[in-house]
Amino acid sequence: MVAKGKSDMTRRVFLGLAMLILCGGAAKSPLARNEIRFPDLPGYVTLKCDFHMHTVFSDGSVWPTVRVDEAWREGLDAIAISDHVEHHLHKADVVENLNRPQEIAAGRAVERNILLIRGGEITPATPPGHHNAIFLKDVNALVADDFYTQVDQAALQNAFIFWNHPGWQGAERGKWGEAQDRLLKEKKLHGVEVCNGAMYYVDAHRYALEHDLTIVGNTDMHDPSPYWDRTPEDHRTMTLVFAKDRSIEAIREALQAGRTLAWCGNLLVGKEPHLQAMFDACVEVSRVQAGGKAGVRAQVKNLSELDIELLRPGADLSDARKKRMATILLPAGMTTMVVLPVPAGKTGSVEIPFKAMNFLAGPDEPLMVNLAITVPAAAPATAPAAK
Ligand code: ZN
Repeated sequence: MVAKGKSDMTRRVFLGLAMLILCGGAAKSPLARNEIRFPDLPGYVTLKCDFHMHTVFSDGSVWPTVRVDEAWREGLDAIAISDHVEHHLHKADVVENLNRPQEIAAGRAVERNILLIRGGEITPATPPGHHNAIFLKDVNALVADDFYTQVDQAALQNAFIFWNHPGWQGAERGKWGEAQDRLLKEKKLHGVEVCNGAMYYVDAHRYALEHDLTIVGNTDMHDPSPYWDRTPEDHRTMTLVFAKDRSIEAIREALQAGRTLAWCGNLLVGKEPHLQAMFDACVEVSRVQAGGKAGVRAQVKNLSELDIELLRPGADLSDARKKRMATILLPAGMTTMVVLPVPAGKTGSVEIPFKAMNFLAGPDEPLMVNLAITVPAAAPATAPAAK
C-alpha cells in the first residue's frame, strides 16, 4: 500500500507539472494562485480588494462564478460584484434580479476563500455620474427613477457609497458638483475611485484629501480578466485595505476609517500616513558599508509588487544622465545594491531624504521619505606585515 501510494503521488505530481507546462507556466494554470506581495502594516492585515466589476446581470460578459475564479487566481482577498442597477443588456436571456450575481457566486467564494461583497452601481448620466454602493442587503431596492432616491435606499442599508471614475464622461466630467456636495453633507458619500482600470484621476485624489473621502482603485471589469500574468506596471488595479482581520466586517470598518491605498500601474496612490507606513514596511536597508567619496554602499530589499523609484530632492535633472545619477530604482521583490549619498567620513545614524516618485500622497505629489541607516566606521587599513 505504501509503495502504491507513493507511485500515485508521483504520478499526480507529474500530471500537475504537465498541466502547468501545457498551460504555459504556473501563472496560467487555473490551479495556481498568483499571490500579491504587499506587506501587512503594524496592527493590520493588508487585503487586496476590487470593489467594482460587472457580470451578465448588467452589461458584463461573464457569469458571476467566473469573477470569483479570476479573483482567486489573481491573488485577491475580496471582491464586490457591482452590476448596473438600471442597465440590463442581456435581459432577454438573463433574469433581472440584482441579488442573483452574489447569490450565484456565493458558494464558489466559500470554496475559494474569497470574501464576496454584494454591491450595485447607480448609473445616472454625468452629472452626478456613476456611484457604487457596496455591503448592500438588497440591490433590487435601489431600482428607482431618481438618483437621490437610489442613494437614499443604499444609505438605508448602511452601504459604503463611492463616486466611480470621476472624469469619465460628460461635459462636467471630473468636476466636483452639486450632487457630491449634497451627498457629502448628508453623509452619503464615503469614498472616491481615484483609480479605475489604468486611469489615475488626479482631481479625484484632491477631492479625497479635501473632503476626507476613502481612496479606492478598482478594475470596473466587464469582460473576462486579462490578467493571467502580471508585471509591476501591467496588473489588475486594486484597493489595498488595511483591515483588523480578514473578514467582510473588517473591510467595512477599514473603508469607513479610510485605511486604504490604490495600486494602479506603477503607482501606489493614497493618503500620507498609509503610504508612509507601506513604504516603511516595504523597504529594508542592510549591509551598510563605509565607502568612498560617492557615498556608502548598502543593500536595499523591496518587499512589494511595485518597482520603487527614489529621487534625491533638489537634484539637478537637467539631462537624462544627471537624472539617472539622482535616481535609485528598487525592482519589485528584489534586493538591490546601491550607493547612498553620505558625506565622506560621516558615521553613525544618518537619515537620507528621497522623493518616492511612484508613491503619490497628493495629486501627482510624491511622498517624501527618509532612509534611516547606521554607517559603521571604516575598517582600519591593514598594517603591512613586519619583515
Ligand atoms: Zn461599472
